Amino acid sequence: MRFESSRDRRLRAAREILSSSRRVAAFSGAGLSADSGLATFRDPDPDALWSRFDPIELASAEGFAANPQRVIDWYNWRRGNYASVHPNAAHRALAGQQRMIQITQNVDHLLEQAGVAPQRVYHLHGSILQDRCHNSACVHREQVDLEKPPGLRACPRCGDRLRPAVVWFGENLPQETWALARRLCTALDCLLVIGTSATVYPAAGLIALARQHGSRVIVVDPNPGAASGAADVHLDRSAADILPALLDGFDLGSGP
Ligand SMILES: [Zn+2]
Repeated sequence: MRFESSRDRRLRAAREILSSSRRVAAFSGAGLSADSGLATFRDPDPDALWSRFDPIELASAEGFAANPQRVIDWYNWRRGNYASVHPNAAHRALAGQQRMIQITQNVDHLLEQAGVAPQRVYHLHGSILQDRCHNSACVHREQVDLEKPPGLRACPRCGDRLRPAVVWFGENLPQETWALARRLCTALDCLLVIGTSATVYPAAGLIALARQHGSRVIVVDPNPGAASGAADVHLDRSAADILPALLDGFDLGSGP
């Protein structure tokens, strides 16, 4: 006999849920990329982006209209940070589950860099690697070089301004991706919720949606938060600490 800590017991309980689940998907937030060195948005940490900057000035259509140069400069500063980071152990552990769908609120591409096929990543909040036209009726998009992001400029197609292809406060999620994520969450045995404070709606509503349709919920987050209240098992560790042990030996899929 050996002593089993509460953490060991919860890890074992989470692995038991996974081993009895046929359809599993992950739903991640900034905590997934925090161990790669990217700032989160809402942590108590003084480096968290929204404790240093005003979200309405920097991440809304109103802020962009008031001062487009400031918004582009801020995103290009963040792009400089993104250019120098690498996937961590959590991204790699998720990439090992090649049949699993990754729903993410992150605008980075660290999951894809770790080896997840791009069509298996549902970016609910867009991508910082692209610019798009601010005119929603225009379809123009451009890839952006993170190390040398271009400055404020006009759309070559319609003359409106180009802006980062991310979802700002007050804007709708990309409709097709959001519909896919919702449909998936109505047909799961387990939703793995990783590093999200689950306070930004509508994305956070996926957890309740999955539960309503019979899914169990495993939450990986070092802090207790809105998501941990909905958890069957809460693993209070960072994603990079615990995901390799949680997923070791599994080949989880999201399909029927
Ligand atoms: Zn345009």
